Amino acid sequence: GKADNPYAGAKVYVNPEWSAKAAAEPGGTRVANQPTGVWLDRTAAIAGVNGGMGLRDHLDAALTQKGSGEMVVQLVIYNLPGRDCAALASNGELGPTEIDKYKTTYIDPIAAILADSKYAGLRIVTTVEIDSLPNLVTNVSGRPTVTANCDVMKANGNYIKGVGYALNKLGSIANVYNYVDAGHHGWLGWDDNLGASADMFKLAATAEGSTVSKVHGFIVNTANYSALKEDHFKIDDSVNGTSVRQSKWVDWNRYTDELSYAQGMRSKLVSIGFDANIGMLIDTSRNGWGGTARPTGPGALTSVDTYVNGGRYDRRIHLGNWCNQAGAGLGERPQAAPAAGIDAYVWIKPPGESDGASKEIPNNEGKGFDRMCDPTYTGNARNGNSMSGSLPDAPLSGQWFSAQFQELMKNAHPAL
Ligand code: BGC
Repeated sequence: GKADNPYAGAKVYVNPEWSAKAAAEPGGTRVANQPTGVWLDRTAAIAGVNGGMGLRDHLDAALTQKGSGEMVVQLVIYNLPGRDCAALASNGELGPTEIDKYKTTYIDPIAAILADSKYAGLRIVTTVEIDSLPNLVTNVSGRPTVTANCDVMKANGNYIKGVGYALNKLGSIANVYNYVDAGHHGWLGWDDNLGASADMFKLAATAEGSTVSKVHGFIVNTANYSALKEDHFKIDDSVNGTSVRQSKWVDWNRYTDELSYAQGMRSKLVSIGFDANIGMLIDTSRNGWGGTARPTGPGALTSVDTYVNGGRYDRRIHLGNWCNQAGAGLGERPQAAPAAGIDAYVWIKPPGESDGASKEIPNNEGKGFDRMCDPTYTGNARNGNSMSGSLPDAPLSGQWFSAQFQELMKNAHPAL
């Protein structure tokens, strides 16, 4: 049977390609041996893009790293039709209607490789389709944050079908552990989003022949920047009789950080029928927010805003900002079972890989130009019409962004 927590007592695969890029940076050897996610972000990634490592190459390398102990390999399943419907930076190769191609040319070949008995001794963690299901809840008609593409993906059902198909196919393999993407607190932590998202996850987990038993857990904060734990203010605090929930930063959210959100979401999911033993993963690759600007105590008790803004580690302009955030740092190093309900802190987004280009760059990956990656952009409804907070001169999403990697190391918390 499957381990309750696949990370317990196991090493985690170090991607040699990411490791080499990190090690080539000044100071990079301090983190180059950390495990990061392997993103299967297009069909060609299965065989290897431009002579790079393919899925079998990674699994073979993982067998070598494994030795006689247990070894986790972290794969990101990320190629849905009409991908990234609320943004442009990570649109992919499949159009909104290409669900059959997703099944037969992407999921089926991955499943065939993972089912090879040669790899039966690996614990294969799949994080499934980042950002997709939450977009069907928050960025559809009836919400001020609606996008036309998310309406299309909700109406045609292809995110639900794709996720259900992937969970069923991959989860049927004895050593594959599916973790479904569950956004982050600054997206789904509001009362009107949390329960509706949990229901959406269940809908997908029971589509296309899948059942809730195919879901080993959920992952939060993937490729995002939300702080793990805000120590200097709590959701139940108030200032002069006003709740911090009324501060501009919190804005009525029910959560202030990822640890409390992951635990709260976990309870909600169990209450609607997911297995009582599901575990959560938290992507801590870029949510450290250390460095010299990190607050060392609570903010002034003048108002809820001075209190929250003076004390918060997360120094984004707005919680909805997601692209190459200035001031961010590496977060907690990957580790197993760090807190109740949490299977592991993981680095799924490989630090140093861009979230999106700062300007239009022609490419054949289907990736568009999202102005949330442009530091001069003044925003939209999804980030409270705020400045984007992104670093300048970023390359296409997924490509190496040296300046960001340097900043992430400089602002690491814990410090390197
Ligand atoms: C990109 C992918 C990339 C991943 C990891 C995503 O934003 O769209 O192409 O593999 O980030 O860096």
